[in-house]
Amino acid sequence: MTTSGATDRARVARAVSRAAPGLARDLPWVGARDPWAVLVSEVMLQQTPAARVVGPWRGFLDLYPTPEALAAAPLGEVLTAWRGLGYHRRARDLQRTALALVERHGGRVPEAVEDLRALPGVGEYTARAVAAFAFGVRVAVVDTNVARVLARAVAGRALTPREAREEAAALLGRRDPRRFNQAMIDLGARHCSARPRCVGCPLARVCAWRAAGGEDPAPTSAHVTRPQAPFAGSDRQWRGRAIERLRLGPATSFQMRRHLLGLEPARRRRVLDALVADGLVTRSAGGFALAGAPRVAR
Ligand code: SF4
Repeated sequence: MTTSGATDRARVARAVSRAAPGLARDLPWVGARDPWAVLVSEVMLQQTPAARVVGPWRGFLDLYPTPEALAAAPLGEVLTAWRGLGYHRRARDLQRTALALVERHGGRVPEAVEDLRALPGVGEYTARAVAAFAFGVRVAVVDTNVARVLARAVAGRALTPREAREEAAALLGRRDPRRFNQAMIDLGARHCSARPRCVGCPLARVCAWRAAGGEDPAPTSAHVTRPQAPFAGSDRQWRGRAIERLRLGPATSFQMRRHLLGLEPARRRRVLDALVADGLVTRSAGGFALAGAPRVAR
């Protein structure tokens, strides 16, 4: 499977299990059992730091406590509830997921990874995370935090996607999937981050990379996300500005031009065209507005 021997893997797994209580972060979705609440948290945590998700997660679930509630809401309202999280396509996709849950699963979140994976907008990581954290299904989850730990502590080299999945499954073994997966994520967030903090890391004595030295294997390993381009001045920032304006209500083309002052015309058109193409914004002769709601099939 990898260069790591079974004994080394067992030592790493034991060290993670022992360290779990001390690694736990105080996050409101940790320990949640409501599958819908877990699914919403996992979608929000994609590309947004945990500290920024706490408030919007609570507010979103107050507004949309069930898939039915989200499926029936106007998209413009959903985009407003998404404030502070960025990457607004996720809000649109989450509403599509909610619609599929209503139409295919009677408004319930399914337990099996393959059923979750078949939902629109739900990828492999999210499906496994919901199965493990909400239902206690014994599957390993590999996000960017876990992927760094696998590459550094377990293998001491960059892993392929298949190797990373196999190593994660072998490490989990018959351990409690909720507790162990969360401990791996917490370890990656607290210690084995992009710039690892090895001093004080509970895996320091068993870490393959720390023992062998050499180039950091994490940046080129599977499932490790690359650093994002700077936000300031990016299209993401301008998209956010446009949506922020439309949360107040429709805007004429002139008002939108003024709101996006500083953006040269060709790029402004490109940003607005992309929002329209993504289904987040509608354009009419009069100007722009946030998109309306999809209809729930009865
Ligand atoms: S010792 Fe360093 S590299 Fe190894 S798992 Fe801990 S933080 Fe990561």
